[in-house]
Amino acid sequence: MATFYDTHAHLDFPDYEKDLVEVIARAQAAGITKMISIGTSLSSSERAIRLAETFPCVYAAIGWHPSEATKAPSDLRPALRELAQHPKVVALGEIGLDYHHLPCSQGGSAGDDQRYKQKQAQIFQQQLEVAAEAGLNCVIHQRDAFDDTLAQLKPFAGKVRGVFHCFGESADRMRQVLGIGSLVSFTGIVTFKNGQNVRDTVAVTPLDRFMLETDCPYLAPVPYRGKRCEPAYVKEISEVVAQVKGCSLEALSVATCRTAGEFFAKL
Ligand SMILES: [Zn+2]
Repeated sequence: MATFYDTHAHLDFPDYEKDLVEVIARAQAAGITKMISIGTSLSSSERAIRLAETFPCVYAAIGWHPSEATKAPSDLRPALRELAQHPKVVALGEIGLDYHHLPCSQGGSAGDDQRYKQKQAQIFQQQLEVAAEAGLNCVIHQRDAFDDTLAQLKPFAGKVRGVFHCFGESADRMRQVLGIGSLVSFTGIVTFKNGQNVRDTVAVTPLDRFMLETDCPYLAPVPYRGKRCEPAYVKEISEVVAQVKGCSLEALSVATCRTAGEFFAKL
């Protein structure tokens, strides 16, 4: 059986409180041999580490999500530096910029938007610094903020690489990401009826420049669309990606696991 990794899962979310042991067992039965639980705040990052200590197949990424920026302490660096030392912390993430829900969409002013964006940029910068110091790469979240995210990451090229997770951008933007030594990863959106734009980008992304992920509990692939997602469903994602790439599941397994092993050095 071709084996795969789930490089982006939120296993610390309350969605899995009751049955995480079964969720992980189902992943392993489906050939998903490693999974990375992604942090969205300090407490979420600590929970991810605890899961990594509990389950040999689980690894952790630590970071503060841009959508939660206003709740972040003024300096995230001391706490993250300490957590980054853990042997199963494989990356900083998820970090980046998200302009999808700006304050102006909820009655805020242009000034509110600017302060919100500044706070996001500030914590993104702090986390890139910690990544560079710790010799770790980053899991990048961006929504409606592609150019600003790329511009902020660019000065770190050569020290820190990013994986632009849940990639749904054009082939041209994919090439911009690869151009600074970073990578992309694809979710269950690739299986959606309305996911043709993502399939078009998958088709032209080199086989050794992308990874697979669920972003569970979100984005369950067809035929589970709308239900709670879980790492086992990387199998359904891999089948569609192999079809789009015109390669065997074995070739996709070798390429994506090798890419992940190089990118997440402690994996
Ligand atoms: Zn995520």
